[in-house]
Amino acid sequence: MSLALVKMSRPSPVDELAARYPDVPRLIIVKTDVQRRGVHYAENALGLLDERLHQTTGTHIFGARDGKIAARPESLLLRDGSSIITTPTPLEENPYVVDLRDGQPWLFDEGVPMEQVDYWPAPAFYAKTSSSGVPMKNIVSARPQRLNIFPYRYCTFWNNGKGCSFCDIVEQLKKGNKELQIPAKLDPVEVGEVVGEALKEPGRFSSVFLTSGSIVGGTRPFDDEVDYYIAILKEVGKNFRTFKYPSQMIGTAFDKEQLRRLYAETGLTSFTSDIEVLDEELFNRYCPGKTEWIGYQEWKRRLVDAVDIFGRGRVNTGLVAGIELAGPHGFRSEDEALEKTLSEAEELARQGVSTVFIVWSPRPDTPLGKYRNASLDYYIRLARGLHALRVKYRLPIDHDSYRNCGNHPDSDLSRLLPLWEE
Ligand code: SF4
Repeated sequence: MSLALVKMSRPSPVDELAARYPDVPRLIIVKTDVQRRGVHYAENALGLLDERLHQTTGTHIFGARDGKIAARPESLLLRDGSSIITTPTPLEENPYVVDLRDGQPWLFDEGVPMEQVDYWPAPAFYAKTSSSGVPMKNIVSARPQRLNIFPYRYCTFWNNGKGCSFCDIVEQLKKGNKELQIPAKLDPVEVGEVVGEALKEPGRFSSVFLTSGSIVGGTRPFDDEVDYYIAILKEVGKNFRTFKYPSQMIGTAFDKEQLRRLYAETGLTSFTSDIEVLDEELFNRYCPGKTEWIGYQEWKRRLVDAVDIFGRGRVNTGLVAGIELAGPHGFRSEDEALEKTLSEAEELARQGVSTVFIVWSPRPDTPLGKYRNASLDYYIRLARGLHALRVKYRLPIDHDSYRNCGNHPDSDLSRLLPLWEE
């Protein structure tokens, strides 16, 4: 199928927003809207996909918005080299369409070509197999400039059904077991081996990233999770000449002793622990496992504790932006949601903790999956607001930037707008 070019029946939301917010680069607005609406790959676009050259959907710890596991581009690159991390979405939800124009993949909105894009290039190690015979790409995956380690594809908050309301990690694990044959729990030694192989590609990767589901077990809650991460990070560290190496972890909000161990015993240089939503009542409702084991106020206190250990500009928290507006329990207006979110983010920023957001993708196998995410205007205002807090409180966000992560419209702004005048 090739889509004929037609005139859009409505003004382009991207152009409207670009006119309204001239301080936000148009490509960041495009990226945000593509994350918001998702993408559909036309057959011609899929025909261009070549596993030897491009990354295809790999070791996702979370599922696609259309609930399918199939060979599709892992994600897209814009012409300024930045990433769009997005997910295939059913056509009836009005996603952007990726189709070919003069043989190149483009983003189309209602048949109108918006932007040329590229598929993510496959790293050299994707063609190799580990010493135990597992394809290396099933052990460590890649963003354009980052190595991703998802060592444990389950979250023990689901043991009593108290996983987060937007999360499909368990559904994805079940599908992944059958269709992808990705190990549910990785061997630290094998992870170190694959990272070593990946780093042989000159100049390709700038950081190592690790995240997985929470593990509540141990002498103190989450000791098992900490021990496991320490074992992995030590193996990864054997590939570097210095003890510390550029790295980020998204973990549970560990207590101070656990954070100290992570910092002292491994090369980890930054720490992220996602609070998901900046409102206590919504946190209790949508993150019942986090509430049961740690609690909202304690989660925030532990983020602040992490600043003492990792340093200012090396600790942040993530939001699944849009869930605060979803369904009958969400804020009644975007203005109200924005005011609450930014005021709580400011309280954290004042104490050295940055806040970033991802655009919420409502996934079919989740309790919140039947709701829609927020407007493009909301996401752009949120990005500007979070960036402004980093400027005000002089908080660098390099470890979670456009280059190392690429999944946060707000930290993309740090690339182009100075955090402060020298
Ligand atoms: S903490 Fe919440 S979002 Fe993270 S894996 Fe567990 S259930 Fe999913």
